[in-house]
Amino acid sequence: MGAHDAVRTASRALATEAVHAGRDDLARQGLHAPPIDLSTTYPSYDSRGEAARIDTFAATGADPDGPPVYGRLGNPTVARFETALARLEGTEAAVAFASGMAALSAVLLVRASMGLRHVVAVRPLYGCSDHLLTAGLLGSEVTWTDPAGIAEALRPDTGLVIVESPANPTLAEVDLRAVAHACGSVPLLVDNTFATPVLQRPAEQGARLVLHSATKYLGGHGDVLAGVVACDEEFAGRLRQVRFATGGVLHPLAGYLLLRGLSTLPVRVRAASANAAELAHRLAADPRVARVHYPRIGGAMISFEIHGDPHEVIAAVRLITPAVSLGSVDTLIQHPASISHRIVDADDRRGAGVSDRLLRMSVGLEDVEDLWSDLDGALGRRPLGGAGNCANNHNAPAPADTHLPLRR
Ligand SMILES: *Cc1c(COP(=O)(O)O)cnc(C)c1O
Repeated sequence: MGAHDAVRTASRALATEAVHAGRDDLARQGLHAPPIDLSTTYPSYDSRGEAARIDTFAATGADPDGPPVYGRLGNPTVARFETALARLEGTEAAVAFASGMAALSAVLLVRASMGLRHVVAVRPLYGCSDHLLTAGLLGSEVTWTDPAGIAEALRPDTGLVIVESPANPTLAEVDLRAVAHACGSVPLLVDNTFATPVLQRPAEQGARLVLHSATKYLGGHGDVLAGVVACDEEFAGRLRQVRFATGGVLHPLAGYLLLRGLSTLPVRVRAASANAAELAHRLAADPRVARVHYPRIGGAMISFEIHGDPHEVIAAVRLITPAVSLGSVDTLIQHPASISHRIVDADDRRGAGVSDRLLRMSVGLEDVEDLWSDLDGALGRRPLGGAGNCANNHNAPAPADTHLPLRR
């Protein structure tokens, strides 16, 4: 993408970028839908030129100009998705991977290759992110802290600070600006999977790296596994080099589906968020529910603790699908202590606020009355004479806001 294009499109709104970014060249080519380039290799009669492009890539990780070389270096369809996501997050670049975990692994490997193996992280994180750090699978060493303890936890070999906001699964939020400030010169990685750039753009608040499990809202239909890191061009170069060397590339068909998913992202997130806000409101007033967590910034995720047995609720839903993952057009519910955060040590899990009675629900685009009727049935009988116990509810949800702003 040339500087001229970047300037010309700088003032586009998010909803416009969602349907146009990564597609700017199509009309000139006489195309409307983006082509899917499935090539693993690319013919070149100019091996001197190709050698020069490989040298440039080895030195900087910059996307090679000219024809692609080999699928593991980069793919034009995947590049469209990367361009579009970078525009939505307001960063110079984005680098896509085979999954969210492959994306996080690449970030850790970039920093470890610079001798910076220490990571400071705030719980809760997605269960497998927690596990990757705690088990030290990539040779990193983690210090867990709360947001207020970040500055103190930094060491000379700290390569990264990691937070999720809203966090999986408690939907706890951190003040990103304050956290970015506390990080000083250490890169802050914000996992923005739950908020999406529709609700929150962490780069504007000082995050150097914005990570997504694109498997969730970006893809949005439960049929693509992918990850992406939005960041500055310098870090993106290193991520491309690690991706090239370790091979966690995204398949071009997945790249196509993600680009297509982005075009409806603002509409999906706003509609699902309106449903979620309404359900959070009803749950907060329900005597069978002990506590509701719903983020201040909104969103389509709800978590709630119930007085009864969460396994019974999972067994009783009929319209809502009992399944891990999130961010699809349909509503999913799961029990974090059994599934998404099972791999985290039970004490650490509870210490991070993930109670054994917590259920996490990813609200989709169904009619809200149908969702409520399923949830109401699955929650079982109301206690006799039970009045609502709103007083126990924490983070009482804001009223449904169907006019969430496009930009924040
Ligand atoms: C799912 C998830 C991940 C991991 O992504 P995969 O695409 O499953 O590898 C990371 N962070 C968060 C917040 C997630 O929800």
